[in-house]
Amino acid sequence: MGEIKIKKIKRGGDSLKERLYLPAIFSGMGVTFSHFIKNLKDTDNLKVVWYPEESPKDITKNYRGVHRLMRADDGSVKCVACFMCATACPSECIFIVAKERENGDIEKEPDRFEIDLLECVFCGGCVEACPKDAIRMDSGIFSFIGGKREDFILDKDRLLSHNDLAKRNDG
Ligand code: SF4
Ligand code: SF4
Repeated sequence: MGEIKIKKIKRGGDSLKERLYLPAIFSGMGVTFSHFIKNLKDTDNLKVVWYPEESPKDITKNYRGVHRLMRADDGSVKCVACFMCATACPSECIFIVAKERENGDIEKEPDRFEIDLLECVFCGGCVEACPKDAIRMDSGIFSFIGGKREDFILDKDRLLSHNDLAKRNDG
């Protein structure tokens, strides 16, 4: 049986230069500044989006934006308050209170449906879990601005309004 060849690599960091850290820091800064100067001389090279005035144009069709609650063909809320999305949500940021549906064959609908965007990690788990395709993340809203924490808690009416907005954008 042949002898196994083992390549021994000397552990770095022993020399005075390496232990000082400063030469490595200055070397890194040198690379950063060389790119900075190069880009200053040739600004055409830079890809700039004047956000938020200008929207990025390279957003994939499969992006995950702010949620929307879907409506059925008759205009009613598609959600049947089954709690599957809230159960699947890893951030526990979906709050649902169910009520009895007054007409139709379906038993329930949400009386209260809220998503706390400050806790949401935009994983898409709620969309995947929904058996009714009642919640989607293709509202066309991919940035959300608010002045206080409460602005980021989206209630049922707000989520339904995102559906109407998305439909307008789809034409
Ligand atoms: S996207 Fe993920 S974190 Fe956000 S509400 Fe849906 S399941 Fe929860
Ligand atoms: S959005 Fe879908 S998963 Fe969530 S409660 Fe409604 S029907 Fe169930």
